[in-house]
Amino acid sequence: MKIGIIGGGQLAKMMILAGYPLGQRFVVLDPSAEAAGAVVANQHIQGDYDDPAKLAELAAACDVVTFDFENVPADALRQLESQVATYPPSLALEVSQDRLDEKRMLNDQGIPTAPYYAANNLDDLEKAVADIGLPGILKTRRFGYDGKGQFVIRSTDQLGEAIEAMGGQEAIYEGMVNFDCEVSLLSVRGRAGEIEFYPLAHNEHVGGILHISRAPYADDALQAQAEKLATPLLEKLNYVGVLAIEFFLVNGELVANEIAPRVHNSGHWSIEGAVCSQFENHLRAITGLPLGNTHVEGYAAMVNCISLMPKAEDVLKMTACHLHDYGKSAKPKRKLGHVTTRSSTLEKLNEKIALLEKVIEENLSA
Ligand code: AMP
Repeated sequence: MKIGIIGGGQLAKMMILAGYPLGQRFVVLDPSAEAAGAVVANQHIQGDYDDPAKLAELAAACDVVTFDFENVPADALRQLESQVATYPPSLALEVSQDRLDEKRMLNDQGIPTAPYYAANNLDDLEKAVADIGLPGILKTRRFGYDGKGQFVIRSTDQLGEAIEAMGGQEAIYEGMVNFDCEVSLLSVRGRAGEIEFYPLAHNEHVGGILHISRAPYADDALQAQAEKLATPLLEKLNYVGVLAIEFFLVNGELVANEIAPRVHNSGHWSIEGAVCSQFENHLRAITGLPLGNTHVEGYAAMVNCISLMPKAEDVLKMTACHLHDYGKSAKPKRKLGHVTTRSSTLEKLNEKIALLEKVIEENLSA
């Protein structure tokens, strides 16, 4: 089976590496000759994600098409849907691209979020702050990720500055959630509507960027709560593939932050940590194969390598540590790779994470 991927980043690369053993072959559409996923694909169509001719070429070359990032234009995906089986559906992509539509969809499906208010100018923002209160965060509705396009507002003196920071883009004001921690749920839904859930992952961010994920966040009641919230959303979207939902945990209750209609950084631990990884499960789902087991034996974790890669030998001399180097050039705040690890207990896992962080930080400061 030939699978097309729009976007050739590290997520495409990891999907391809998971699909090879299944006998799947891959065509990547990406403008860059050096894209991490394009380098390992069987075929690389070099071109823009919204070029109708390139999309038609991709559709003609593949049995099914998917994508590895959210900023694929929804119109491009709709064009593809009329030409070839395309998953996840364009509706899920479109909703995830706009923080306001996303929050409305989440609330419509009974999933709680932070209080929010569309705020495109100072007038709106004053009303939003009067309604929701301070502190809060003004975020661009579109094209924000890893904390980009966000302004934390702590006092009414900052409202003008916050609107300026949006650079004329439409924005949404969200009340600041005083959360205990952040967790994410990765779900996978197959073509026939069957659903599997990964155990909740506990996520630590530094400067708005995911740093560490650990799974399972062993709390059966919370797992059941998360699955109950996710199921109607998956069904409403007629979703096929892996969907990530990021939650804040507030006094034992889940409050959704955002969704990602794709394989997700907070599920990278599943490569060596789960019976079937999120990447293989995404491919199984979109190609109509039986879904794989999402169980984790013991505890698994992922530590991101941001800005600089650690020395391979320093990581690999540690027991049960696996290095994933995306092969990208180093840049501040860029995700260049990650390390996964496993342990029989959470205590041992945390010891290993502390050592890994030391190895990564030592290289950063060298
Ligand atoms: P986002 O780009 O929306 O995923 O935000 C990046 C990070 O900023 C999140 O993982 C949170 O740590 C933090 N954050 C975003 N929105 C809120 C909020 N409404 N309340 C508290 N923290 C937030």
